[in-house]
Amino acid sequence: MSEIVDLAHVRLGDRPLAVCDVDDVVLEFLRPFERFLDSLGHRLVPRSYRLHGNIVSARDDSPLADALVSQLILDFFEAQESWQTPFGDAVTTLKRLGETADVVFLTAMPPRYTLMRRRLLDRLDLTFPLLATESPKGPVVRHMHADRPLPLAFIDDMAHNHVSVAESVPQCLLVHLMPESDMHRHAPKPGPHVVQARNWPEAEGHLLRHFSRR
Ligand SMILES: [Mg+2]
Repeated sequence: MSEIVDLAHVRLGDRPLAVCDVDDVVLEFLRPFERFLDSLGHRLVPRSYRLHGNIVSARDDSPLADALVSQLILDFFEAQESWQTPFGDAVTTLKRLGETADVVFLTAMPPRYTLMRRRLLDRLDLTFPLLATESPKGPVVRHMHADRPLPLAFIDDMAHNHVSVAESVPQCLLVHLMPESDMHRHAPKPGPHVVQARNWPEAEGHLLRHFSRR
């Protein structure tokens, strides 16, 4: 795993660990991506929980080819500093959590956009370590936390990431947090082993209760 994800800059203390997704958990993704599409003459039609097949030309409603949609997602990551804004109370909540726990960002994004995301998070004073990978999140979390006898929590908007972490690190508290949108209404629901948070104050409550059990 270490050859896929470089953990060298992640230094963990003797305290709980919160591994936190970024897109649509710490930074808004879908809403700014829709604005980005609008600026290019495209439009998102939230018919299902996927981007491919659901982006059309604003001029004639014709669907964009999958290859173009994939390129638009990469273009958005490249330009993220001009578009993405904080999600809810993420900034104040994470800074508060960071006083008593280690926080690590684990973002599903091609690693070549790490520098842009790092600058954007730093601008928000979210200076926690950042890992970008397109490989499953569970093995990365297991590699990071190993056998440390300390509480561990994972926050993400995607059900499949919770499945991956549950398989790799069964003792981890899984917190599902996601935006409300027409597209997210189609999102797969996480299993009963995942706790739901409607917003960051609820997520913080779940984490603090879990962390106080050490
Ligand atoms: Mg996400």
